Amino acid sequence: MRIEFDRDACIGMFQCVVEWEAGFEENRDTGKAVLVDGEEVADGVYARDVPDDAELDAKFAARACPVDAISVYDDDGEQVV
Ligand code: SF4
Repeated sequence: MRIEFDRDACIGMFQCVVEWEAGFEENRDTGKAVLVDGEEVADGVYARDVPDDAELDAKFAARACPVDAISVYDDDGEQVV
């Protein structure tokens, strides 16, 4: 599973941090979340693999985001959230 985070879309509500504590951090200076260990794959877009034991949390983080800044893809590349 893979997660993608659109930093430009993020409005810093930080529900993602609540849902997946190990995956997202708050940056109060920028007012944006940080995808922990995320690699910038496009301008302002960060992605990383999701560990098997964090898949549920990652999906909840994506569902909780009010501006759909987080997307989750299965191993076939299909978007699941
Ligand atoms: S829930 Fe969405 S808007 Fe809120 S901090 Fe996380 S990514 Fe940004």
